Amino acid sequence: MVVSSSAWQSQWAALKPEYAKAIKLALQATLVALWEETPAAMRVGKSAPTSKKEWQQWLANWQQAGVLSPKTTQGWQTLLTETLAKPVAQSLKQIEANKQQSECGQCGVCCRLASTEHDVATLQAMADAGDEFAKQFVSVMLPYENTDKARQRFPDLVVSVEKSTPEGQPIHFYHCPYVQENHKCGLWGSPKRPAMCATYPDTPLVWMQPDCGWADWKSESLTTTLQAHATLAVLDVLLSTLPSTA
Ligand code: SF4
Ligand code: SF4
Repeated sequence: MVVSSSAWQSQWAALKPEYAKAIKLALQATLVALWEETPAAMRVGKSAPTSKKEWQQWLANWQQAGVLSPKTTQGWQTLLTETLAKPVAQSLKQIEANKQQSECGQCGVCCRLASTEHDVATLQAMADAGDEFAKQFVSVMLPYENTDKARQRFPDLVVSVEKSTPEGQPIHFYHCPYVQENHKCGLWGSPKRPAMCATYPDTPLVWMQPDCGWADWKSESLTTTLQAHATLAVLDVLLSTLPSTA
């Protein structure tokens, strides 16, 4: 398992063409939808805005004309949400449903090799500050003494994690002392077993070893999940450009 705040962004970097395409399609669909909602008299150009600058100018013109009432802004928010967020919610639901077609192979690898960009002190500070995942992680995971120790145990997998990590980002490897020789969890049925273990992998975006029982699900769902995240990022940007109704 991997705890990385930038997991999806770094995977997007690897899939840059799809990323650019998803952003463009989502943006175009939204702008066209908004453009069609715009009365002819309010249109400031010959077509829907195609750049952030044009988009901002478009909004400013609406605002100047006094047409951008709170009601209109709310309408835009609804439109944006309907256009972008609804399909995303549906596709994420489908991805979750597809997960039921796979199951854990109980190899115990994810218990013996976990990685994150955070060292123990940082994770502990995050846990102390209330980060739920960090709390669960530090409740069971212990750090490898150093990367070479992890490498000795899982040479290929450490290389695979390193390759999937953005350049310059630190990696720290961990293992759980509760995994048993037969790969079973020593905390099975105990309230001490963190919820993260029951839900892993909670998204196809996490790094998985190639023979993981969820690997097929990951490869089938990866692009859709990344597109969903990109669309949500677009939605955030678009919503943040809407003038305040306060
Ligand atoms: S608590 Fe159990 S399932 Fe969770 S990492 Fe440790 S051995 Fe694996
Ligand atoms: S199959 Fe995957 S989730 Fe299950 S124990 Fe192995 S690495 Fe972990």
